[in-house]
Amino acid sequence: MKKAKKGKIYYSMQAISVLPIILFGILIFICGTYSFTKAMSEEIFDHLDTSAHLCISQINAAYPGDYTLKSTSLEEGTAYSLYKGDIDITTAYEFADHFKKDTGMDMTLFYENTRIITTVRDWEGQRIVGTAAPEHIVEAVQTQNKAAFYDNAHVNGEPYFACYHPLTNADGTVVGMLFVGKPVSTVKPIITRSLNPLIIVGLISLLIAIFISYSYAKKILYILDRIKVFFQKTATGNLNVKISPDILNRNDEFSEIATAALTMQKSLRNMVELDGLTALLNRRTGEQKLKSSYLSADDSQTPFCIVMADIDYFKSVNDTYGHHNGDVILKNVADLLKKYTAQRGYAIRWGGEEFLLVYENHTLSETISCLEQLQEELRNFAHNIEGTELFITMTFGVACDANLELEQLIELADDNLYKGKTSGRNCIVS
Ligand code: GH3
Ligand code: MG
Ligand code: MG
Repeated sequence: MKKAKKGKIYYSMQAISVLPIILFGILIFICGTYSFTKAMSEEIFDHLDTSAHLCISQINAAYPGDYTLKSTSLEEGTAYSLYKGDIDITTAYEFADHFKKDTGMDMTLFYENTRIITTVRDWEGQRIVGTAAPEHIVEAVQTQNKAAFYDNAHVNGEPYFACYHPLTNADGTVVGMLFVGKPVSTVKPIITRSLNPLIIVGLISLLIAIFISYSYAKKILYILDRIKVFFQKTATGNLNVKISPDILNRNDEFSEIATAALTMQKSLRNMVELDGLTALLNRRTGEQKLKSSYLSADDSQTPFCIVMADIDYFKSVNDTYGHHNGDVILKNVADLLKKYTAQRGYAIRWGGEEFLLVYENHTLSETISCLEQLQEELRNFAHNIEGTELFITMTFGVACDANLELEQLIELADDNLYKGKTSGRNCIVS
């Protein structure tokens, strides 16, 4: 079978079920990662700030007094020493190394903009003392006398999470600053490790959402496709197409569409197969059905009778009471024929006021007995025509010979009907 062409909705539904979720996921991921990283950075800055405060308190406790720079004239030039109170702290590295060991953080003590004491070493392992701090940091910390935080401060060529605190003497003069920091390379993995579970949970939720949305869209598309196929087949004249019970039992708009489609199919089938006035099978459909009934009776060797029935003197009814009243009588007669063929076979409007009755699995005597009851009811049936009661009769030609072909059987029924008409009508001839 040729594969049905997928339409625009097929592709756009699939896209719309997945793309917004992916975009939303990416947005949440970017915002989430940003907020989380920011929160982590603030946490780290807090930690650095506390440690810087601690370091300053420890320095003040160990070396009470103000910072002063003293110069000594030497032969090779002038030597400078940093004093805290009375103690020369220029080489108080032990204190700095203790701090690093206790907190895991680097520290540097600047006098003005110059590194005096530090735990940071260059690639040869030498402490980087005597060098100058970047000007913008000195400006931010010492000129403005307030702490500053950086998540990418370059110290000895390496990026650091850094906190700089101004150092003041007792009179409030800013004399330098204290750097406390951690290399970004040691902090980033901790942030990433904390972020990983969030990313994994987020990703799994995203995939579940995509799966649910995509499956739902697929299901809807499948139903749309089934309904489309139903209409396409119906449009080409196939009035026996079925719709899956899964769709009919959904209890939603789709089941309503499917039910309406089936109702439409039934109406179409009635229009095509039934006679408009009497609602009996029309000649075209009746002939097809008659052929298959005849063949199956022949196959199963079951008795099979047909009856050609015609209203007597119907022309004069029409002439006397009008065509419209003739139609009323035709309808009444058809209802009776339906009643007397129900569960036994069926009735076909063969043409005009002539009908062909089919009796399946009925012997000749069973058929005649049924026709006698019909004849009796018909004879006593008062057709109400404009206030007057009108009675009509019919003549029946029966054919039940199993040795005859269908055409011969119809011919026999016709002949018997003719015999009935010529012998006075209102009779059953077999
Ligand atoms: P007979 O007893 O020999 O059958 O006589 P008859 O008058 O019934 O037969 P005839 O063939 O002369 O006339 C049949 C009439 O049936 C003629 C036609 O106007 C009428 N007829 C056929 N179809 C319809 C119909 O759909 N509606 C109405 N009202 N009349 C119809
Ligand atoms: Mg007639
Ligand atoms: Mg006739």
